Amino acid sequence: METPGSKRLLRKKSLSRSYDENLMDDYLDNQLGGSTRKRFRTKQELEKETEKEAMIALSLGFPIDALHEEERKANVVSQLDGKEQNDYIVVRNHILARWRANVQAWLSKGQIKETVSNEYGQLLNSAYDFLMFNGYINFGVSPPFKAQMPEEATEGSVIIIGAGLAGLAAARQLLAFGFKVIVLEGRNRPGGRVYTQKMGQKGNYAAVELGGSVITGIHANPLGVLARQLSIPLHKVRDKCPLYDPEGRPVGDEIDSKVEHIFNRLLDKVTEFRQIMGKSAADISLGSVLERLRQMYTVATKPEEKQLLDWHFANLEYANAGCLSHLSAVYWDQDDPYEMSGDHCFLAGGNWRLIEALCEGVPIFYNKTVETIRYGNDGVEVIAGDQTIQADMVLCTVPLGVLKKKTVKFIPELPERKLKAIEKLGFGLLNKVAMVFPSVFWGEDLDTFGCLSKNSATRGEFFLFYGYHTVSGGSVLVALVAGEAAQSFEQTQPSTLLHRVLSILRGIYGPKGVEVPDPIQSICTKWGNDPLSYGSYSHVRVHSSGSDYDILAENVENRLFFAGEATTRQHPATMHGAYLSGLREASCIYRASRGSKPIHNPRKSFRKVVGVSDTLVNLFKYPDIAFGNFSFVFDPSNQDPKSTGILMVTVDSFSSELGDDNGKVKNTQQSDKQPLKLYTTVTRVQAHELESESEVGGVESQLKYLCKSLGLKLMGSDSFALIANSLISNVASRRARVRNRRVAVGNVSYK
Ligand SMILES: Cc1cc2nc3c(=O)[nH]c(=O)nc-3n(C[C@H](O)[C@H](O)[C@H](O)COP(=O)(O)OP(=O)(O)OC[C@H]3O[C@@H](n4cnc5c(N)ncnc54)[C@H](O)[C@@H]3O)c2cc1C
Repeated sequence: METPGSKRLLRKKSLSRSYDENLMDDYLDNQLGGSTRKRFRTKQELEKETEKEAMIALSLGFPIDALHEEERKANVVSQLDGKEQNDYIVVRNHILARWRANVQAWLSKGQIKETVSNEYGQLLNSAYDFLMFNGYINFGVSPPFKAQMPEEATEGSVIIIGAGLAGLAAARQLLAFGFKVIVLEGRNRPGGRVYTQKMGQKGNYAAVELGGSVITGIHANPLGVLARQLSIPLHKVRDKCPLYDPEGRPVGDEIDSKVEHIFNRLLDKVTEFRQIMGKSAADISLGSVLERLRQMYTVATKPEEKQLLDWHFANLEYANAGCLSHLSAVYWDQDDPYEMSGDHCFLAGGNWRLIEALCEGVPIFYNKTVETIRYGNDGVEVIAGDQTIQADMVLCTVPLGVLKKKTVKFIPELPERKLKAIEKLGFGLLNKVAMVFPSVFWGEDLDTFGCLSKNSATRGEFFLFYGYHTVSGGSVLVALVAGEAAQSFEQTQPSTLLHRVLSILRGIYGPKGVEVPDPIQSICTKWGNDPLSYGSYSHVRVHSSGSDYDILAENVENRLFFAGEATTRQHPATMHGAYLSGLREASCIYRASRGSKPIHNPRKSFRKVVGVSDTLVNLFKYPDIAFGNFSFVFDPSNQDPKSTGILMVTVDSFSSELGDDNGKVKNTQQSDKQPLKLYTTVTRVQAHELESESEVGGVESQLKYLCKSLGLKLMGSDSFALIANSLISNVASRRARVRNRRVAVGNVSYK
């Protein structure tokens, strides 16, 4: 069955049902021979092992007998194409294979040294550093990795816009490299287009994917690595996918295979066509070529054949989130060679489990929609609402749809070539109707089934159903809406849409004697109207090409960086592509911050932030209100009860009650000896509410009240200084002015 990222229909037979990560470990360990046995191996065994390691490296995108392009750029060897390069490749493959054999453990240089001869020490350093800083090893969310996080930030400061997979991947990586990082997210939740919604009845919820759902190709997939690190089982999406005609009758095997064959032959013909036409076909759409070819070869002429072919076209429109009439005939499948191999999988319990793990330890600020990004030699300034935050660099991961709408203003404007690429690349729609039923009436053994439409214009409407009963914890069925139908879908009342889906389902299951009940709950997505996305995922539109993805990925002046699914030429439109783009940009930022084309003064803005933290500490020498562990400072010129000030909480020991749901406070460094000082913004009214609470309860109850009832989020001074520097400066300057006036008035009266 087809899922985004793989463009041809694959309805293969499968044997196994679930992955067991321990079995995967054993499998890889056997493949590698197990590190402990390595030193007693014969020459032949070692050669065999070297070959296997090369195959693993190959599956991760490294050439067997050459350097990766990035390795060349990073000058990993002093001389190309000689013995040194060959030895490097063997060492690099060994490191990659060692880490992939056990992704739960941090792989140190010391461990590699045990299995690699001393004479290759330099190559080992070179390969290890390259793989480490480019996110090929030791990435992810394995709990033991926490111990490897630097205690203090030693590198510059980075603001990341967007807490989707790209932003979160970059944030974790940058924190691990020693950067000071904050993430600004416009929504009130992380994950972006990965959105697992709890649906169903209280006490019996199911986890339902409203956005990215299928891990497309499990081999070498970084999301598979995360799943293994968290010991989350994966369920292979089974290949059985029966199709039903518009009257609900099963499509016969013969005609099904015949039309599938026609479809694949037509795509082969498209390939031949573009080989003949070359670049002159750049303005021709895939849809027009397919239709011309269909007519030319007079195939799929009977109504049922035409409907079946339309079903395959809808499937293609789903994979690309775009109408065939918009896709480039030449480049629509330019990413095919990089497709992740292996089965397509669902993650048990939903993809939010990956998001949740990725968020741990990352300072994320929600409901912060960025409107302006200023960048220049002195650093960057990001404006979200009434807050202005400065840093050394900014990583923008907002979806292509948002860039197209220009809701984020760049000062200075982005380079012309980037603006053109933003305009040219396509960003289309896929929508879903997610339903939770009282039972799995469609059959436990089915993960997918499809339904044909009577006419071409509606071929994408509910053309494919995904059953998530194996992984979601409930009887969840999701109907997909692709192509043209996905556009009109958002203008239609959800009750009408639900009525249509149910009639399709009743048309299929009624004649089988299976009653289709009303769903317990249903949700219709509207990704096109979502102001933080404006669509679902990218595709190569007519007039654009894969190189537009590269242009989107280019940084501007080593200050402004870009990540996200639409910045990866190899893996666009996917969750793993987004994740990999975040790792990629973290290493770009790392290189830029110490590279030969230096940033003017990489620490300047960082110092600004540190300066703000000092101001913060000074402000609390003379608080406006203080009781118990709480001190408050306000702008003296604004007595409005809703005006915002700053609260500092001093705690002697870490309280488990402190953490909010996102665990933000848990990230704060804590010293055993010094009391911990935490900060948040607070209104005058809230300050008085807290004061009243202090009369009834102790510090624990005040903290609970603060986090749970008032919804305030405490953070350390540096993070707070980054997010609230304009408030801090404002309060400090107003207080200074009032103090000066008092001194002046005092002086006058004294005289
Ligand atoms: C319906 C649907 C189904 C899909 N199915 C699959 C699938 O089965 N398999 C697969 O691999 N992929 C699938 N995808 C694609 C996949 O979900 C995305 O490619 C991936 O999640 C994108 O991640 P990202 O980090 O690039 O962007 P996002 O996840 O969109 O993250 C960007 C973040 O930026 C935030 N943001 C936007 N503007 C601002 C602003 N001005 N200020 C602050 N924050 C802002 C957004 O709120 C968002 O959180 C699907 C997508 C959709 C919509």
